[in-house]
Amino acid sequence: MATTLIDRTGPVTAAPKPDVAGLSCHAGKEELTKAAQAAGKSEALEQYARDYPLGPHDQPQSMCPAFGSLRVGLRMKRTATILSGSACCVYGLTFTSHFYGARRSVGYVPFNSETLVTGKLFEDIRDAVYALAKPEDYDAIVITNLCVPTASGVPLQLLPKEINGVRIIGIDVPGFGVPTHAEAKDVLSGAMLKYAASEIRQGPVAAPRTARSALPAVTLVGEMFPADPVGIGRMLEPMGLAAGPVVPTREWRELFAAFDCAAVAAIHPFYTASIREFESAGRTVVGSAPVGHDGTATWLSAIGQACGVRADKIAAAQNAILPAIKGALAAKPIKGRITVSGYEGSELLVARLLIESGAEVPYVGSACPRTRWSDADREWLEARGVTVQFRASLENDIAAMMDARPDLAIGTTPVVQKAKQLSIPSLYFTNLISARPLMGPAGAGSLAQVINAAMANKQRFDVMTDFFAGVGEGHAAGIWEDTPVDRPEFARKYAGMLAARAKAEEAVGT
Ligand code: SF4
Repeated sequence: MATTLIDRTGPVTAAPKPDVAGLSCHAGKEELTKAAQAAGKSEALEQYARDYPLGPHDQPQSMCPAFGSLRVGLRMKRTATILSGSACCVYGLTFTSHFYGARRSVGYVPFNSETLVTGKLFEDIRDAVYALAKPEDYDAIVITNLCVPTASGVPLQLLPKEINGVRIIGIDVPGFGVPTHAEAKDVLSGAMLKYAASEIRQGPVAAPRTARSALPAVTLVGEMFPADPVGIGRMLEPMGLAAGPVVPTREWRELFAAFDCAAVAAIHPFYTASIREFESAGRTVVGSAPVGHDGTATWLSAIGQACGVRADKIAAAQNAILPAIKGALAAKPIKGRITVSGYEGSELLVARLLIESGAEVPYVGSACPRTRWSDADREWLEARGVTVQFRASLENDIAAMMDARPDLAIGTTPVVQKAKQLSIPSLYFTNLISARPLMGPAGAGSLAQVINAAMANKQRFDVMTDFFAGVGEGHAAGIWEDTPVDRPEFARKYAGMLAARAKAEEAVGT
């Protein structure tokens, strides 16, 4: 599959013409934000600022946020995705999508300075949408404004809401407004849920493709390993409940089914916009997840209460599963000190499971923000002496690892790279932790397996470190005839020049 250039084929209509001459990705967050506000995007940016609060770090170092929403769209059946942004951004996003196995083409409406400045880009997007909107192929088309089109105010909100029965969803996902790719998943999921809710209010909607359970369902929010919803369903059964759809959904009609629930489980706690839609529809939302013994006991109780289940039935559900979880945790203990960091939003759940398995976890860092839906997990962890850092930066994560000197570091690519340099066994959160079950007895057993295997590698790291000893580090890494000489004075000189220039620019600006 590839990136498809979509040429304009239809009529040209008037559109706003923002003054965006000279604007580029390199303009910086502040300039891009100012430009976007001036170009009519204040409302969207203010909503993002409320939904995805910043601080202490203002932008954790993760991939382009738009990858999150792009992936959600690409995973949905009968959904077309179109990007509007700089070619380099689109190249990176499509490359990453296909690297992660997208089986769909990504549409792209290219622009140049002229089409951006004159407002013609919006006309091109509009024409592309008309050309694609074939109900025999699609239920929905998602168009995403990346940084420059958002800053330029390309008004996706003026696109028709529907063409030939195909829903049109326009979203702005700029790196300067949406902090992480995790939260960008919520931007699209929230927009789709909002659209689906308006359809439900207007009249009958399509039923789910597969027959729904006769039991009231619990909608699950957050991407998870495919076996987890099945396991959750089994845990809910004794309470007379079933696992409902998982949001982000894989098909449009599942959005309707997601609203048809007794309660919503915010398994991942950062889906603020999506949760807002469920709450506006009068659904009760429950945080945390059935991980480990304590987590499962509390979660089943909270879900049971939210769904009005009798206390004896809640106890029956707990008694049916908790001994098995206890058994799995005891059978596969984890002994060692582990630091956890990631940008998936499930870091706190993983840390809980590790601690219940016997591990010492001094630090958990998440690129996602603190929300009320993560409070229960945060409190549980803090009560056990864990430092929980929301909006953690790479520097936070590395400093915590250096300080704790763990037996295993679970983290993002640069954290894992640093750990390897220090001969600390490490695991990628995204590829190795998120790609296995976490819930119920299956989660307990499966996590221990990969963690213990990684920790057992410590000796191999020591052997490697010995093997490569003396080949140099940093500026002198490698085998040299003349070993490069470090010149820290140059770095100091340029840092001084940059600081002086920034000061001068500030003085001119005031
Ligand atoms: S869209 Fe924005 S955040 Fe994403 S790669 Fe382009 S400039 Fe960076």
